[in-house]
Amino acid sequence: MTETIPHWLSKQANLAPDHPAIELEDGTKLTFLELQHKSKLFAKKLAAMEIRKGSHVGILSTNDVKMIIAIHALSYIGAVAVLLNTRLTSEELNYQLEDAKVSVLLTSDEQLSKAEPLHAHKKKSFTDVENMKEANVELVSELHLDDTFTIIYTSGTTGFPKGVQHTYGNHWWSAIGSALNLGLLKDDKWLAVLPMFHVGGLSIYIKSAIYGMPVLLFEKFDDEKVHQAIMHRGVTMISVVTVMVQRLIEKLGDKVYPKEFRCMLLGGGPAPKSLLETAKEKHIPIFQSYGMTETSSQIATLSPHDALEKIGSSGKPLVPAQLRIIHPDQDNIGEIAVKGPMVTKGYFHNQDATKKSFQDEWLLTGDLGYLDDDGFLYVVDRRKDLIISGGENIYPSEIESVLSAMNGIKEIGIVGKQDGTWGQVPIAFIVSNNELTKEEIYQFAEKRLAKYKIPKEVYFVDALPRNASNKLVRNKLLSTINRRSDS
Ligand code: ATP
Ligand code: MG
Repeated sequence: MTETIPHWLSKQANLAPDHPAIELEDGTKLTFLELQHKSKLFAKKLAAMEIRKGSHVGILSTNDVKMIIAIHALSYIGAVAVLLNTRLTSEELNYQLEDAKVSVLLTSDEQLSKAEPLHAHKKKSFTDVENMKEANVELVSELHLDDTFTIIYTSGTTGFPKGVQHTYGNHWWSAIGSALNLGLLKDDKWLAVLPMFHVGGLSIYIKSAIYGMPVLLFEKFDDEKVHQAIMHRGVTMISVVTVMVQRLIEKLGDKVYPKEFRCMLLGGGPAPKSLLETAKEKHIPIFQSYGMTETSSQIATLSPHDALEKIGSSGKPLVPAQLRIIHPDQDNIGEIAVKGPMVTKGYFHNQDATKKSFQDEWLLTGDLGYLDDDGFLYVVDRRKDLIISGGENIYPSEIESVLSAMNGIKEIGIVGKQDGTWGQVPIAFIVSNNELTKEEIYQFAEKRLAKYKIPKEVYFVDALPRNASNKLVRNKLLSTINRRSDS
């Protein structure tokens, strides 16, 4: 027998019908009862388009209340939502649409033109669907925890993106694990600025339905608007990535955030130590976290309480999760493996990748890290990016973290280059303020890094290669060099 729970949105529509579920930038609010009503109505209209239990439905939209309604609507049918990154090219989107076997593509009205060259049997905007007549179908009242609810592709930072399947159970346990860690207060309000097509963004709306918690929905990150919202709109939590922290600190200046603002959940990638230290000085309640698409958002988190002693750590695994380091080297660094009910059962239609990524029930993350004596996790780098130079292991993100503290360095990417003597040597690509010299950079590095970690070459560039998730794609740095030396 599979485990079932009552539909989470219907539950809140019953428990807290008049409580706000979604608050928009302009102050408009939607209660849980209204959100349920709209989602069910939308579901019946989708059913009129032959969308059934198990149908794969693509969604191409930036953050929009209609996108939330569409996602909940699919759950009322038992269909699978395939969430697509609007920053991808048509070619990249077509790959995901075909790979995920999407039959119908839903888009926001703004994305409809972007959807034109895309391959899907049917394409409809949210408004098209709203204008349809509903079918008389029975909607789901229970959720089966083993059923797949969403497919989200990994960012494609280390290779081709893979379609991660999330079951209702994965989302449920992710939300429960997060609540057990962060706690849940009656007045909590989560500011959502991360794109909903990433799992970190999506998870906020699922938590909202599970906890009965209002979400303040912003279409995108705007530092001034987000700053004002934290200062004046009763926001208690926000999920962010590193670059947002940088911008918010600038906005904050000498002020402090209100007392009720209790959590800035930082995820998605590494954060330079200097940034975390500045945040600490400004009493910003940063919770550094570690997670990936495969773990349905964070799986380990460091609280500000521990941050005083453990700056740079991603904390400990959530209550329902386990984490261990496999094949540690002499410095205790090895591959991070995780296990727990929020971890995906595998990649859609990609047995090979699933097989490679799992050992028994442990997910091999491809990330390197270590646990300190107190069991706190430090993520070091991706296994694929490790540089081995004269037998020494070099982690590019360590060099990036150290050098990014230098005045005048705006962005930096480190990658290994083949070298006749050492095997590989680190080289640096830097976006600077145009005033820095290479000599100054070498001098700064010499004071702070062991000799073998000092970049042997420095290239000034206008921008670093980033993917649609804005992550640095280190293996593209290398091909820039190869092209240069070919020419
Ligand atoms: P792909 O799997 O396609 O190469 P990706 O791994 O970048 O892409 P995501 O699932 O979006 O796709 O990102 C998860 C990754 O982000 C983690 O595996 C890890 O490398 C990185 N990451 C997340 N949190 C942290 C952290 N606290 N410190 C360092 N890196 C982190
Ligand atoms: Mg990955």
